Amino acid sequence: MSPALEERAFEAVREQIDAVCDRMNIDEGCRLRLGQCKREVTVHFPVKMDDGSIKIFTGFRVVHNDARGPAKGGIRYHPDVTLDEVKALAARMTLKTAVVNIPYGGAKGAVVCQPKALSQNELERLTRRYATEITTLIGPESDIPAPDVGTNPQIMAWIMDTYSMAKGYCCPAVITGKPIEIGGVKGRVEATGRGCMISAKLAAKHLNMSLNEGLLVAIQGFGNAGIATAKLLLKEGCQIIAVSDSRSGVYNSMGLDVEGLVGHKQETGSVVGFKNTETITNAELLGLQCDILVPAAIEGQIIEANANSIKAKIIIEGANGPTAPEADKILCDNGVFVVPDILANSGGVIVSYLEWVQNLQSFFWDEVEVTSYLERIMTDAFVEVLRISQREKVDMRIAACMLAVRRLAAVMVVRGMFP
Ligand code: NAD
Repeated sequence: MSPALEERAFEAVREQIDAVCDRMNIDEGCRLRLGQCKREVTVHFPVKMDDGSIKIFTGFRVVHNDARGPAKGGIRYHPDVTLDEVKALAARMTLKTAVVNIPYGGAKGAVVCQPKALSQNELERLTRRYATEITTLIGPESDIPAPDVGTNPQIMAWIMDTYSMAKGYCCPAVITGKPIEIGGVKGRVEATGRGCMISAKLAAKHLNMSLNEGLLVAIQGFGNAGIATAKLLLKEGCQIIAVSDSRSGVYNSMGLDVEGLVGHKQETGSVVGFKNTETITNAELLGLQCDILVPAAIEGQIIEANANSIKAKIIIEGANGPTAPEADKILCDNGVFVVPDILANSGGVIVSYLEWVQNLQSFFWDEVEVTSYLERIMTDAFVEVLRISQREKVDMRIAACMLAVRRLAAVMVVRGMFP
């Protein structure tokens, strides 16, 4: 992300919320409340490293809004993460949970660290200490974390265990994205990718195309979200012609062997160098001749400088905030159909919601049921957003934001303001 964008990430979300508040004549009190985060906590905590030295780490936990229910949002481990970025991600979670109409608010957390540089023991100690620092803030009825970039089910298990130790009893519902053995949900690993695939299918249908016509797909980011999206789009009949990671990208105009590529990445740490592929840069991947582009890496990748080079007909935003506001206008003018992050990548939080519901009721569904709930919730949201987009003659991002803000304002007005 460019430094300029990084510093104003929250401001950019606030401007987006403000713009739809103006358009819909939203109550001023609601606008003011959505323009700030309810709670921003920064913690500095020590961790004993394997060599016996002590290091101080910085972590955050932000709740943007909890009017519609407990706050919900992932925990990111990344060396460059900032409070401003976490605030922006928390605000996006508020919009995301509202647009897909699940009874949550929005939150996000992070620890400034390079997880790949830590041993498993150091990672566990860091996680347990961070969890302890935020134990009074999180809880099944208040703020429910989940995985994000740099975190995984094992880290969720350590947080669940640490929180349960503090409470004195087992609390699976405090966190989602857990391993199945401790109350995780079947299908969570693929959930975000499945949501992206469902969005792609609905977007293609809207444009009178069909995934099984062999639509050409390029995916930036080959992690949790990117891999699952690639596998599921391939299964639907698309051709995945390019993928990339933080090192670089690989391309084959005839389609990539996705399973083989997953194995290659596991073995070598990157997609680069996989057999029968040409190495391309991330910039080249974004400008490829394809039908569907899925940015599924990090924020701020599609910017004013490269938006005109995009040739895809559809963009499915697997990542949070991959498109800068200035780029959005260019994409819209060029007729690119963008399914915005708060809708496209909501599969993860929807299935997280199903995990939490299962934990609260101590009754578990099979994967078919989980997937069918996901499909229904996402399809309803997509159809509603598309309807608003057509009725109000706005792009899908503004329409999704309008739907979210309308739902948030309705709740805030009915609840009233304390005291
Ligand atoms: P991940 O860490 O598993 O994967 C990220 C991938 O992006 C990796 O392959 C990494 O190498 C690559 N990457 C990093 N920087 C890059 C760059 N500059 N150019 C190209 N590739 C780069 O993370 P993830 O969980 O898949 O999350 C990816 C995005 O999706 C994030 O924006 C995240 O917030 C969003 N998201 C994830 C989930 C989820 O359930 N995992 C849910 C909703 C949204």
